[in-house]
Amino acid sequence: MSENKIPYKIYLDESEIPKQWYNVRADMKNKPAPLLNPGTLRPMTAKELAPVFCEELVAQELNDTDPYIDIPEEILNFYKMYRPSPLIRAYFLEKALDTPAKIYYKFEGNNTSGSHKLNSAIAQAYYAKKQGLKGVTTETGAGQWGTALSMACSYFDLDCKVFMVKVSYEQKPFRREVMRTYGASVTPSPSETTEIGKKILAEHPGTTGSLGCAISEAVEVAVGTEGYRYVLGSVLNQVLLHQSVIGLEAKAALDKYGVKPDIIIGCAGGGSNLGGLIAPFMGEKLRGEADYRIIAVEPASCPSFTRGKFAYDFCDTGMVCPLAKMYTLGSGFIPSANHAGGLRYHGMSSTLSQLYHDGLMEAVSVEQTSVFKAAEQFARVEGILPAPESSHAIRVAIDEALKCKETGEEKTIVFGLTGTGYFDMVAYEKFHDGLMTDQIPTDEELAKGFAGLPDVPEN
Ligand SMILES: *Cc1c(COP(=O)(O)O)cnc(C)c1O
Repeated sequence: MSENKIPYKIYLDESEIPKQWYNVRADMKNKPAPLLNPGTLRPMTAKELAPVFCEELVAQELNDTDPYIDIPEEILNFYKMYRPSPLIRAYFLEKALDTPAKIYYKFEGNNTSGSHKLNSAIAQAYYAKKQGLKGVTTETGAGQWGTALSMACSYFDLDCKVFMVKVSYEQKPFRREVMRTYGASVTPSPSETTEIGKKILAEHPGTTGSLGCAISEAVEVAVGTEGYRYVLGSVLNQVLLHQSVIGLEAKAALDKYGVKPDIIIGCAGGGSNLGGLIAPFMGEKLRGEADYRIIAVEPASCPSFTRGKFAYDFCDTGMVCPLAKMYTLGSGFIPSANHAGGLRYHGMSSTLSQLYHDGLMEAVSVEQTSVFKAAEQFARVEGILPAPESSHAIRVAIDEALKCKETGEEKTIVFGLTGTGYFDMVAYEKFHDGLMTDQIPTDEELAKGFAGLPDVPEN
């Protein structure tokens, strides 16, 4: 099909929503390292994971053999409310950049939660309901995951207890109220409602919290409350699995027009949107059917891939969760307080970590002022107000398109636009007022985080 027939937005038909998730681990020769029990240092069994996570989700977490997993009909029905999401050709951005590159973005912000997180939230809530649970607990940083989970829980009539990093709880009251609108209870973390919260508050009075700390509180409540389990919005294999719906749709849309991307770009916090977007493309790469350049983009102030260590680490500050082998800055690492651009988690999905370690994908880190510059440039021509997290991917898509301008190459670039930025206007305000700075951790600061890595023979 000729180039000028490609519409601005490629929408798939409702019937083209994938009916199965794709599990990239099935095609990996080097499987991601297993989660370890922090006490015994043996791989976590399904039985050991069962008090924390829902049964079906444990099975998905441990499944690295089945390439396709059926999406239950109840989840598909919910997906139909906001999927398929559009794949948009960024004609206006291409024109503004005067680049021969062809840029596409997969937009996941077309739902009330404002991000891709709903794709996994609805799956996790469904399996909790199916198991007959009363509710779930979780943590949220900027609030997108908490919002998505509240929506999913209200749909399935489940209780939802959210521990929200205190600094966000205070700075983002509107996010909090959205969650409460959907019936969730929201507690600022660290809180006095858990043992670990009390301990952290005693050790660090006045702390504004961190994701790792909120995770510990949420796990403590899940394990200690009958009929509750803990759910997590990123990092875990199961979350990447659910998010594969992004990549499967993107690939189907591109295939419709015979377009083959050269470069696929996504922002990386815990790795779920990137893992989902690249899944089917990576599958082809792993099976030797096609080749793509795949780029993870992370903030220079929280550079897990580019400056982290590939080691077993705690997933949370309280050290109650299993150990995961991943690129990590150490569970004690907290990005500088003036970092407003999201993607603050100290570790990275073990699946993506293994793929990166094996040279199957690249990573770059970018500074937040350049991220907001890209966000603004994008908003002004493409119209969508991007989330700061998503804007990391925009930054690198623009950089790659500008390289094409220099070389005259007509590369096809696809990036993930994970969400909208309506709740991030304080960060945008800082940027507009010239108050945003770039704080990059020194090697000494990183060394402190690495010093807290657990003593595991593999490390
Ligand atoms: C949570 C979030 C991210 C980062 O999380 P990943 O698990 O790395 O995808 C990126 N963009 C938006 C809008 C988010 O809400």
